[in-house]
Amino acid sequence: KDETRVSVVRAFSRVIEGTNELVDMDQFSLGEEIRRSSDFLPQATFHRYHSETEMMRYMHRLAEKDYALDRGMIPLGSCTMKLNAAVEVSAISYSGFARIHPFAPESDRLGYRRLTQDLEAWLAEITGYDSVSLQPNAGSQGEFAGLLAIRRYHDSKGEKDRRICLIPASAHGTNAASAVMAGFRVVVVKTAKDGSIDLSDLTQKIEDFSGQIGAIMLTYPSTHGTFEPQVVEVTDLVHAAGGQVYIDGANLNALVGYARPGAFGGDVSHLNLHKTFAIPHGGGGPGVGPVAAKSHLAPFLPGFPGGSRHDWPGSGAVSSAPYGSASILPISWAYIRLLGLEGLRGATATAVLAANYVADRLEPSIPVLYRGPGGFVGHECILDVRPLKEKYGVTVDDVAKRLIDYGFHAPTMSFPVAGTLMVEPTESESLEELDRFCDAMESIAEEASRVGSEWPADDNPLQGAPHTAHSLLVGGWDHPYSQEVAAYPDALIARKKGRDPEYVHRLIESKYWVPVGRIDAPWGDRNLQCSCPPPEAFED
Ligand SMILES: *Cc1c(COP(=O)(O)O)cnc(C)c1O
Repeated sequence: KDETRVSVVRAFSRVIEGTNELVDMDQFSLGEEIRRSSDFLPQATFHRYHSETEMMRYMHRLAEKDYALDRGMIPLGSCTMKLNAAVEVSAISYSGFARIHPFAPESDRLGYRRLTQDLEAWLAEITGYDSVSLQPNAGSQGEFAGLLAIRRYHDSKGEKDRRICLIPASAHGTNAASAVMAGFRVVVVKTAKDGSIDLSDLTQKIEDFSGQIGAIMLTYPSTHGTFEPQVVEVTDLVHAAGGQVYIDGANLNALVGYARPGAFGGDVSHLNLHKTFAIPHGGGGPGVGPVAAKSHLAPFLPGFPGGSRHDWPGSGAVSSAPYGSASILPISWAYIRLLGLEGLRGATATAVLAANYVADRLEPSIPVLYRGPGGFVGHECILDVRPLKEKYGVTVDDVAKRLIDYGFHAPTMSFPVAGTLMVEPTESESLEELDRFCDAMESIAEEASRVGSEWPADDNPLQGAPHTAHSLLVGGWDHPYSQEVAAYPDALIARKKGRDPEYVHRLIESKYWVPVGRIDAPWGDRNLQCSCPPPEAFED
């Protein structure tokens, strides 16, 4: 510790006194009033692992509990859980990227300048916008920045009454939250029967709030997983009413190389580099949510006071660093650079094809809620499992938990439609893995049909899911279904379907064992549990 203190003092003393000599250390001692008196990280976990061997095993134990992409598909709709290729990720550990301060002088970060300029230019080209700010640290922060830009734009023209933000009922929850934070009043536009925006409701709302329409926030393809054919009509209507069009770019994985939000009516969009452009995500970040805009909004995009970014007038920062999560930008740079236009188009096409494959294969057993023109879905689809509840009392939770027994992470649940599952396979999954998923879903639907007749409603493989090894081995087994059905349902159906024995064996041998059984989900949400010491431990 003393060594650190000495080097800190030395660094400053050079500046202060122009000398390399050590100055009187006592002069720099910390005052009592700022010294820590409380304990630091007292929990046992922070003191248990004292050798690298122990630490390594501890980390491995944590990873063992996890279900990540290195195990199998994570079909979370709207999340774009695609491959984060090692070659794309490797550069972030280079010291030139990893060990530089965000406010280092420009001359020390010429490489970064090239990186950010390339990315800004490429993303502008991909999206059809004129200007890109890489500053926001998340998609939601990009939304906030984009809406602030719209608001400042209206203000700059003296139109301070334009404070209504129209948002379709299917929108991602962050849309409305960002709109409110940016000072807009949210007005929800209804959904038509086919899942697209209800145009007559939209026209009505535009009329009701004439002169006050600030913006509409669209997602394209919509969170219903379809390309809405009337998107240009919608953007035209809003523009005619004096409003700006915000297109949520989180679904860009269905568009890159084929369609550009800036070309079909968008004034501003955010992208999620941690979805479409290969930055790993899940578990809380960091993310990058660049905001891209047409030239009339560019002066209002987030910059950085002090001029370390562009000297745009009126630009306010939305993050404490000029380029936000700059250290992970090399991943998206490499993704775009390695794929090139042809590769990016190929990724988009494969992602959309994969979603349509899943939708069509599952349709006979689990209906797909919305389809767009030609009967196609976009890069994701909503599987309607609500009939399983009506017919057999099997809930969406049961299906999601049972998928864990089959070796899958659950898809997105009850968003944007309660009681349904939204599946996004991405371009990264092989046909074999897509089939494994479809086999599992079909088999779960079949299992559901036996609930109430063959198995009681409160004791069946769906209710009991997910099954831990402990529950199968300890204390006897008195359920109306076998341990094999509980633990190896994927291998059972693979065998029944006559799949290659080696494949069946692999399913058994590489089974994911869930670390905990079912927890009553809403109870857990409403009764926060801390796995640290109980709150009483923190009393005086
Ligand atoms: C993920 C997502 C967002 C928000 O992005 P974050 O990076 O999670 O803040 C917004 N809209 C849609 C449609 C999304 O899927």
